[in-house]
Amino acid sequence: MASTGPVTWIRKDFHVHERHSQDAPGATVEKYCRIAESRGIDEVAFTTHFIITGPDWEFGLQPDQISGYLEEIEAAQETTDVVLRRGVEVDYFPGEERRIGAILDEHQWDFILGSLHFVKGVDIGSRVNSPRFFKGRKPSEALDIYFGEFQKAVESGLFDVIAHPDYFRKYTPLTYESPVIWEQYGTKVYEALDSLRSHGVGFSVNASGWRHGIGDVYPIEGFARAAFEAGVDAVTIGSDCHTVFDLGANTLKCLERLEKVGYTHSCTYENRRSRRVPLKDLRLG
Ligand SMILES: [Zn+2]
Ligand SMILES: [Zn+2]
Repeated sequence: MASTGPVTWIRKDFHVHERHSQDAPGATVEKYCRIAESRGIDEVAFTTHFIITGPDWEFGLQPDQISGYLEEIEAAQETTDVVLRRGVEVDYFPGEERRIGAILDEHQWDFILGSLHFVKGVDIGSRVNSPRFFKGRKPSEALDIYFGEFQKAVESGLFDVIAHPDYFRKYTPLTYESPVIWEQYGTKVYEALDSLRSHGVGFSVNASGWRHGIGDVYPIEGFARAAFEAGVDAVTIGSDCHTVFDLGANTLKCLERLEKVGYTHSCTYENRRSRRVPLKDLRLG
């Protein structure tokens, strides 16, 4: 194995950013393949950003780049035994469902991740803007709004899986004195979980909280447990890496989160159909 130090990854990574997002310069599909091979990772879903509107629309893949992006993945597949999946991380904006759907429908995808980086027009994943959403609201009030939007994203039918369900934790410490805990997630979250189950949409466990300094994966344990108890079957694991070095980083922690709350599988996607993989088969070594 090329890398030193403890192995923090598992065999599959379903949230990987490559160079078509401006936040992942130089991270080519080709380089990811070589790193995956050296780390024993056997399946990678590329999920570059696609942001149809808002201040960051130029940040991700542009509609006229999608074919080239997908061809790049298909060409790389010829060079490796690592299974490569054609995915995308799409920002959800209420009211833009038809426009987003029309663009996505023009292409063949394996996996579509939906994300709520923007809530009511505010980028809750931004240091500057997160307090604009949370200040003046109790966590449960703010999160009732958030999970209302989350439910709309689920019911839009656009997405296979919702990414990092409580990514807002990255910057809530700028607003609240203590970290937001599961008991403050409000009541709408339960409706959101029911809609995941009834629509067959999954949620993703995302390792990037470790890079963001919150010392945890997304989502918080209480959410993962409530999802399991609500019967949400579809779940994926991803590093959300933006550099090849971070491929798979801390995905083992995501697996452990799922195991702890009762899951015995996670899912992979091909042609937008899910397949369950036993968690025990995802561990390396
Ligand atoms: Zn994201
Ligand atoms: Zn991402």
